[in-house]
Amino acid sequence: MIVLGAGPAGSAAAVTAARAGLRVALVDRAMFPRDKLCGGGITGRAQGFLAQVFGPLPDGLMRPVGFMRLSHNGQDLGTLTCDPPFGTTMRHRFDAALRDIALAAGADDHAGRRAARVEPATGRVTLSCGTVLQAPVLIGADGVHSATARALWGRAHDPARVAFALEVEAPPRPGPDVLDIDLGAADWGYGWAFPKDGSLTLGVGGLAPRNPDLAARLAAYLAAHGAPEGLRVKGHHLPFGEAKTTPGEGRVLLAGDAAGLVDPITGEGIGWAVHSGQLAALAAVRALAADAPGAALGHYTTALAPALEELRRARLLRAIIYARPLRAGFARMLARHPVVQARYLDLMQGRRDYADIRLGSVFRALRRSLAAGLDRARPPG
Ligand SMILES: Cc1cc2nc3c(=O)[nH]c(=O)nc-3n(C[C@H](O)[C@H](O)[C@H](O)COP(=O)(O)OP(=O)(O)OC[C@H]3O[C@@H](n4cnc5c(N)ncnc54)[C@H](O)[C@@H]3O)c2cc1C
Repeated sequence: MIVLGAGPAGSAAAVTAARAGLRVALVDRAMFPRDKLCGGGITGRAQGFLAQVFGPLPDGLMRPVGFMRLSHNGQDLGTLTCDPPFGTTMRHRFDAALRDIALAAGADDHAGRRAARVEPATGRVTLSCGTVLQAPVLIGADGVHSATARALWGRAHDPARVAFALEVEAPPRPGPDVLDIDLGAADWGYGWAFPKDGSLTLGVGGLAPRNPDLAARLAAYLAAHGAPEGLRVKGHHLPFGEAKTTPGEGRVLLAGDAAGLVDPITGEGIGWAVHSGQLAALAAVRALAADAPGAALGHYTTALAPALEELRRARLLRAIIYARPLRAGFARMLARHPVVQARYLDLMQGRRDYADIRLGSVFRALRRSLAAGLDRARPPG
């Protein structure tokens, strides 16, 4: 099997397939450790998937953060206790550690080689060094600009649905660790300040077409956090609510960002990347054991269906809580009602499913909140 991309999705696929006894080529254009622009927030859901797929991770890879402060355009909405804590991590260390586990499980290392040509029909991949690999099943875990998805469909994502985010690494701030989330810092998105070992990652991101002024928004967010001037700004896309309904074609399975598996409200992608990488590999193992590689995509699509449904529901909810007129109502309800705060945190941590949220009652509660002001707002049932 060939796995293109050795981020969380690719390493999850590779370790799963290698442990099941498949010969796996794990290809990445980068040498590791390599950086990946990311808030590096690891939710409870992601921690569960990571433990399931990789087993125990090296000590100190994640920094536990026990508090989350919510705000809206700088106005405090409340500070929540995260129990269990969120994790934060620097992706260069994190991704290298996951890839090491995949290599230790027996995956063949093809780092520093770009997939220059992907041929979905034959399962042949030509690497930038000239090596040609071929396998009955190919897992494309090559990120938001996936060369594999482009080889299948001409483009990796829909520009109208993709998000863009800008980030800086700032010096760490004193005091207890708190994850900051400002729901007004970007349109259909938010701003974040995540404490890490030796750094504070600050960023803003949201649906690209709705945020043509993202650089100005980042500047305002940095100023509000007292970040020093002159920090290096980096930007990256994320597939923010455009999960592919069929995650691949023929012998090609897509996982992680390549399949559009990012939560359209929270921007969480690491947990879904690990989960989908594992499911794609298990589907391939099953199909190859039956000598029916063509069946892998069907197995994978079926296994991924609950995750796709979660992300679909999240997109519907996003259309309610991020819509301009209702957003202020959402912020007020968060400020006013501990139960709404607790549910928001549960969704972010993966302790509650979007399927449990009744969209109609959220919509009605937000309208009430807007119409009646804070005092008469009621939380959704
Ligand atoms: C600014 C920002 C902040 C974010 N914050 C968070 C967060 O706090 N928490 C969270 O859960 N998610 C966050 N995300 C989303 C998260 O980063 C992604 O969802 C996650 O990295 C997806 O993992 P992946 O393995 O699918 O892809 P990636 O991590 O992008 O890995 C893809 C790999 O493929 C390789 N590759 C690409 N093209 C080729 C090629 N042609 N040949 C060979 N190799 C190739 C790349 O080098 C890379 O190593 C954030 C995203 C952004 C942009």
